[in-house]
Amino acid sequence: MDKAKVLVVGGGPGGYAAAFLAADLGLETTLVDLEANPGGVCLYRGCIPSKALLHAARVLTEAKDAAAIGIEFSAPTVDVGKLRSWKDGVVRRLVGGLGMLAKQRKILFIQGRAKFIDPHTVEIDGQGRLGFEYAIVATGSRPAALPGVTLESERLWDSTDALALEKIPKSLLVVGGGYIGLEMGTLYAALGSQVTTVEMLPALLPGADKDLVDILSRRIRKNFEAVYLNTKVGGIEETTDGLKVRFEGQPERVFENVLVAVGRKPNISGFGLENTKAVVDERGFIGTDNQGRTAEPSIFAIGDVAGEPMLAHKASHEGRVAARAIAGEDVSFAPKAIPGVVFTDPEAAWCGLTQTQAEGEGREVEVVRFPWAASGRALTLNRTDGMTKLIIDPKTELVLGVGIVGVGAGDLIAEAVFAVEAGAKASDIAHTIHAHPTTSETLMEAADIFYGTCAHIYRPKRGKT
Ligand code: FAD
Ligand code: NAD
Repeated sequence: MDKAKVLVVGGGPGGYAAAFLAADLGLETTLVDLEANPGGVCLYRGCIPSKALLHAARVLTEAKDAAAIGIEFSAPTVDVGKLRSWKDGVVRRLVGGLGMLAKQRKILFIQGRAKFIDPHTVEIDGQGRLGFEYAIVATGSRPAALPGVTLESERLWDSTDALALEKIPKSLLVVGGGYIGLEMGTLYAALGSQVTTVEMLPALLPGADKDLVDILSRRIRKNFEAVYLNTKVGGIEETTDGLKVRFEGQPERVFENVLVAVGRKPNISGFGLENTKAVVDERGFIGTDNQGRTAEPSIFAIGDVAGEPMLAHKASHEGRVAARAIAGEDVSFAPKAIPGVVFTDPEAAWCGLTQTQAEGEGREVEVVRFPWAASGRALTLNRTDGMTKLIIDPKTELVLGVGIVGVGAGDLIAEAVFAVEAGAKASDIAHTIHAHPTTSETLMEAADIFYGTCAHIYRPKRGKT
């Protein structure tokens, strides 16, 4: 092996996006990953398999809900093996496609573990050394363990085990009421497990606005067996019947399986970072500037290993900024809005400033809310359990943030991200014609509420538009 202009370590959505763009910009690029194809956590054991399975969950739930509008199906049977193969097939097809796309771009893809020897050399296990002018570290993250629990048991799952879909347990405890806990809880509840969620903080999805979470929580409480808030797991031990869990503040219970989803830790060790000047910051992530450059000038870091939020689209965007910076472009990572989407039922999505953040910063904002009970489209879907809210600067009328809960919120948030990023005023959204009947109209109607001119909610106010 000789020398690459750009070496990318880690082929997840951060790493492959960086490598693909570096190659498109004419830079000779090498991509190293442990797997046979690019894809990373997102494709192999994250975003894609979880969303494939959540689609199946949605089909089951919709069939059940149809009874309310006069359509009864007999109880479904789930062929777990077939569902698993379909999900694995989706992953195979996507990662195979990425492998082809790397080849087409003439990227040298190496399967192996890279380790930095010095700021311009890596060793790839058993395959020799490779020099590089610039490297991009995109080694991602792994599940965090539950503090104080050392038990090793096949019944104790992390997200990868849950996505393997080996079986549908009769009872499942999900520890952590964040993204993974709620998505996997939604999946297994739809598949027929009795799901209990335990969250140590006072609310599910800590950080998200309470009014959005309240709507989601109502449905979750209906579909899950129990939701324990403000509760910690005191200990877990294996018995012949399952895992016996002690809770702080709740009676102990036995579950067939326990899924731990209490956050993720960046992968910062085991690849020779100490042989460079790159530093790990106080939060445990590799420290970078706004182009992704670490304290070692030849080395960039992007994605989950470089900081929150640990989301695929944030990783890709950072990867593309780093590739452009290496190509000599004057770029920086400075988004106004990074969307967050929780693919539960209903979905919850937000971007830009949240109401919680605004209140925490003592920032003056006006919050307008359009309840989906007033949306014709939501009624035709028989899903009025939704709300669209805008967080607006009352002086400039700029849309600073948006939150949506409701079916399809994850797709709807795109317009909101564009509005915040482009510096749109509430009137820009209010004056844009939205197709009828769609739930996208709820964004327009929420903007109209700000001016007191909303057709379907009578709330007189300033009448400015
Ligand atoms: P990763 O995807 O973690 O990839 C890192 C890669 O680096 C891996 O392929 C690994 O093999 C490789 N690697 C590590 N060390 C080395 C080394 N020394 N040498 C060579 N290769 C190495 N995000 C969303 O935006 N939407 C979602 O719906 C979503 N769902 C998720 C569901 C689950 C269950 C999980 C666990 C995560 C989910 N995420 C989701 C988060 C998303 O997967 C991550 O934010 C994203 O994968 C981060 O990308 P990355 O490129 O930083 O790293
Ligand atoms: P998370 O940070 O979203 O949620 C973890 C939850 O566990 C928090 O609510 C936290 O308060 C709680 N918790 C922590 N310790 C606990 C304990 N001892 N007992 C009970 N509760 C405890 O983390 P996650 O759900 O593991 O997901 C990891 C990351 O992966 C997410 O933050 C997100 O960045 C990414 N992800 C994104 C998506 C998506 O975009 N749809 C889906 C899955 C994962």
